Amino acid sequence: MITGEALLKSIAHSQVQEVRSITRIERIGAHSHIRGLGLDDSLEPRAVSQGMVGQKMARKAAGVVLQMIREGKIAGRAVLLAGQPGTGKTAIAMGLAQALGPDTPFTSMAGSEIFSLEMSKTEALTQAIRKSIGVRIKEESEIIEGEVVEMAVERAAGGGGARVGRLTLKTTDMETNYDMGAKMCDSLLKEKVQAGDVVTIDKATGKINRLGRSFARARDYDATGQQARFVQCPEGELQKRKEVVHTVTLHEIDVINSRTHGFLALFSGDTGEIKSEIREQINSRVAEWREEGKSEMIPGVLFIDEAHMLDIECFSYLNRALESDTAPVVIMATNRGITRIRGTNYRSPHGIPLDLLDRMIIVPTSPYSHQELREILNIRCEEEDCQMSSDALTVLTRVATETSLRYAIQLITTASLVAKRRKATEVSMEDVKKVYSLFLDEHRSEQFLKEYQDEFMFNDGSGDAPQLM
Ligand code: ATP
Repeated sequence: MITGEALLKSIAHSQVQEVRSITRIERIGAHSHIRGLGLDDSLEPRAVSQGMVGQKMARKAAGVVLQMIREGKIAGRAVLLAGQPGTGKTAIAMGLAQALGPDTPFTSMAGSEIFSLEMSKTEALTQAIRKSIGVRIKEESEIIEGEVVEMAVERAAGGGGARVGRLTLKTTDMETNYDMGAKMCDSLLKEKVQAGDVVTIDKATGKINRLGRSFARARDYDATGQQARFVQCPEGELQKRKEVVHTVTLHEIDVINSRTHGFLALFSGDTGEIKSEIREQINSRVAEWREEGKSEMIPGVLFIDEAHMLDIECFSYLNRALESDTAPVVIMATNRGITRIRGTNYRSPHGIPLDLLDRMIIVPTSPYSHQELREILNIRCEEEDCQMSSDALTVLTRVATETSLRYAIQLITTASLVAKRRKATEVSMEDVKKVYSLFLDEHRSEQFLKEYQDEFMFNDGSGDAPQLM
């Protein structure tokens, strides 16, 4: 390993924290209204909760997956969310990520992201898998609190007057002896520490801080009438040595230890390919930490949207990767029916090879009712701070039923801008109608193209409806 364990901890921890805080400054995105799966304590879906509406069976199934991941016992399972466009597959995956909380790694990618010139497909998938596995590293705090049992300070022989000493400190579980260097001795004398005082020692700087006297000795001092400040920690209840826990992902450890990239690559995302020797070294080091009880593995989630964009090589790689005991739970989503598996001439359900499908549990999503669409649009209006009149919402719901939910969601922002231009505080039915006529949905756009096809460049003249890949 190139960098030491301590470096890994300090760099990885501080940097990862920063990365997380940057993602908090989020703009309103397609799924920013989703705050969880909207389940109650027994994992039953509530009708409308945490931004989630309807789709109860799929949310309930996601709740079971959530429990499975939380218990951390099952590795390498694969779940497929399958359903028509706009039925909330991505929304459910995002809800799951929120429900898992920030300590469980969740990586989200689109199937097409693996096609890059910078790295091979398998490298991209390996990175995605390792981004989805967390390592929780435990470390003893640098600050120790305890009661001074004994201490001795003397001048070191030939040490140019520097002091050395020995200190016995009682913490909750044991007494520990510390050899004190000059800094610690000076700090001890400066604080006028005596036996029976409660102190904290900063192991990193050697600084001793006197908090006061332990309750256990309170009586002795009451008898002599000596004024002293007593610390609220009766014998046996001194603060335990604190344990500090950092969670990093295997990928972050890979990047930090990769000489060619350095940890700054984590910010730019430009990590390039990572050598397999480095990964092997890290795997064995992490396994050692696990055996020594210093760390634990947290299998997280790898979400691959538009899974039909993966090709046969990726599928077979994933099939193999899922067999590892540290594999994350892989969730895929697709809106395709029976279609060609990329890289082959074979057709299969969802464009996914049968051997991989056989390993997956499939969660179907179904189209929304009129009322559910209205509710989702209403939640989106709130999310975008858009006041919409009831009849405008009715029109918009009809648009969603007849075109698509996504198109109707787009009209919220545009209608709200139109309303603002006429200095109205509420979006009216006319605003919705206006943007409906200004911006075409997919169906009207197709009709328009058919009508005016001769006037477009590169028109093949067939007039066939566009084919999805
Ligand atoms: P595609 O197959 O086209 O990728 P999808 O099934 O992944 O579609 P989403 O992107 O999840 O669909 O949904 C479209 C929009 O509707 C998103 O903004 C999503 O947040 C919202 N949405 C979908 N379902 C729900 C739901 N049940 N509750 C709240 N919002 C939802």
